[in-house]
Amino acid sequence: MTILANKTDLVRAGSGTWQDQMKWAVRDLKGLQEALGLADEGGLQHAAEAEFPVFAPLPYLSRINPCDLGDPLLRQIWPSGNEMESPAHFSSDPLGESDATKSSGMLQKYKGRVLLVTTGACAVHCRYCFRRHFPYEQAPKSMIQWEPTLAEIAADKSIDEVILSGGDPLTLVDHSLARLISRIDDIAHIKRIRFHTRLPIMIPQRVTDALLKILANSRSQMIVVIHANHANELDLSVERSLGQIADSGALLLNQAVLLRKVNDSLESLKDLSERLLSCRVLPYYLHQLDPVRGAAHFEVDVNKGLHLISELRSCLPGYAVPRYVQELRGEPNKTVLA
Ligand code: SF4
Repeated sequence: MTILANKTDLVRAGSGTWQDQMKWAVRDLKGLQEALGLADEGGLQHAAEAEFPVFAPLPYLSRINPCDLGDPLLRQIWPSGNEMESPAHFSSDPLGESDATKSSGMLQKYKGRVLLVTTGACAVHCRYCFRRHFPYEQAPKSMIQWEPTLAEIAADKSIDEVILSGGDPLTLVDHSLARLISRIDDIAHIKRIRFHTRLPIMIPQRVTDALLKILANSRSQMIVVIHANHANELDLSVERSLGQIADSGALLLNQAVLLRKVNDSLESLKDLSERLLSCRVLPYYLHQLDPVRGAAHFEVDVNKGLHLISELRSCLPGYAVPRYVQELRGEPNKTVLA
């Protein structure tokens, strides 16, 4: 049960369009405290909020237990004073993405695929986000601005997959998304378009008929990689939306991050894999935390991660056990830990 600040908020969590939900999202610490009956922690917590503002949509808040600072969903969005005490090796660009920037808005870390930073907007601000300090203002903002980057992709036949990332690419309105996808579809050597998105989880209303049509009509194979860290994120409305994406023909995968006091237990990881499967999503990656400044309090020791994966293997079928991976700056691929 939740105690969102007032009953109107509770009703609103399941209603409106996805754009309404973006508008109604809680955007500051005070709002979060009021919505969930939580006390102010003072001092450093406000400094953490000033560095990376709160953004949390009502459907996600409605899945959080009130007055419970230990709630695994709350921990992902709750500014903590700990964020202001980062160890030296936690940096603002932990994956060296500034070096991987090929041209405006386009990163290439690995052979054969490029990543487009389509927007800086997200439907939630995850406190552990490795792009929380990313210079989004430098990325293209319109189709005209994307054209030189698309021309570069068209000129490089070694690229066969385009990843739409951000921010969250599903914060783009449908007609912008349709135009971008159609321009990518025009490039004959592109076989796959991959989305990295949390929106179907944060705001299930985002999965509109228009979006499903865009996914179904593309010439390219569509891969939708969602990002859920805990089974509680996947309520019935999320399950419905994910089912619709699966019905559109897109391949659905999940990437999670191993996070202290969120999902660093056998029970939690097992529940997550089982819940994902019931939502027709394959558990794909479990990431070791990227050492981004402000997120050190989420770090789980790699040895503990290895132990958890080995325990998971003993109680789940192989396809339900995610690959435990770590991204290391400059490496030609992700490092598979287990
Ligand atoms: S949704 Fe993704 S990009 Fe946005 S804050 Fe969360 S982890 Fe970062």
